[in-house]
Amino acid sequence: MLNQQKTKNTTIALKGIPFDANSSYLPGAAKGPGAIRKALLSPSANLSTESIIDLGSSCQIIDAGDIQVRDFFPDIVQATREILSSNLSPVILGGDHSITYPVIKAFSEKFPDLTILHLDAHGDLYNDFEGNKFSHASPFARIMEEGLATRLIQVGIRTLTPHQKIQADRFGVEIIEMKHFQIRSIPELASPLYLSLDMDVLDPAFAPGISHYEPGGMSTRQVISILQSIKPTLVGADIVELNPDRDFNEMTAMTAAKFLKEIIDNMLRKP
Ligand code: MN
Ligand code: MN
Repeated sequence: MLNQQKTKNTTIALKGIPFDANSSYLPGAAKGPGAIRKALLSPSANLSTESIIDLGSSCQIIDAGDIQVRDFFPDIVQATREILSSNLSPVILGGDHSITYPVIKAFSEKFPDLTILHLDAHGDLYNDFEGNKFSHASPFARIMEEGLATRLIQVGIRTLTPHQKIQADRFGVEIIEMKHFQIRSIPELASPLYLSLDMDVLDPAFAPGISHYEPGGMSTRQVISILQSIKPTLVGADIVELNPDRDFNEMTAMTAAKFLKEIIDNMLRKP
């Protein structure tokens, strides 16, 4: 099973952020980290990836527990910074999508030329949402206006508004809208590369355990194919917006755990 202690072989740290106070519609995403861990270790499935790496016998992964968030921005920046300064690749389990802004703040200190691949139904580019600049609808506005990433590629978007289109143009965001999506439309991705995976990129038929149902999304297999097509070794990733309160029979949690395994598979590849 997953180590709780760092060893000389450890390269990947799982970190939960049970936080949903910046959700605009429903709470529940704070229960995401626990649900993903439970699904990952469920006796109903095994711990092998599709390239047949057994994560259960890999000694490279540590479960570094959860961040207990008191002060949203500094607490998450500091916890992410600590993982990166130990030369581990963080895989963050959210939590609502607001957590990606402080996480990327810490990444930008180590990787000033970061590329972000962002899979989502939503652009999350609002300058603010109902007055909240930390809203889960705004993390990529903060990231881009502060220059924390050099390139942002969004895939699966199907909720653009005139305001968000202006924001995207202003920040030079490359958007592959769901209506145009083909896997070969994703451009070649350079290292250092970070993946931000919002579970609502999936069609709600595949992922009922989310807060914002936006029909016309990806299949589970399409997302897995994207994950498996990523060539550079990811320097970090997050999986956000799983809402266990809306899930049925833990099926969306199992899907998040499946994505987690395929993300770790990428990270275990030798560069
Ligand atoms: Mn999002
Ligand atoms: Mn979303």
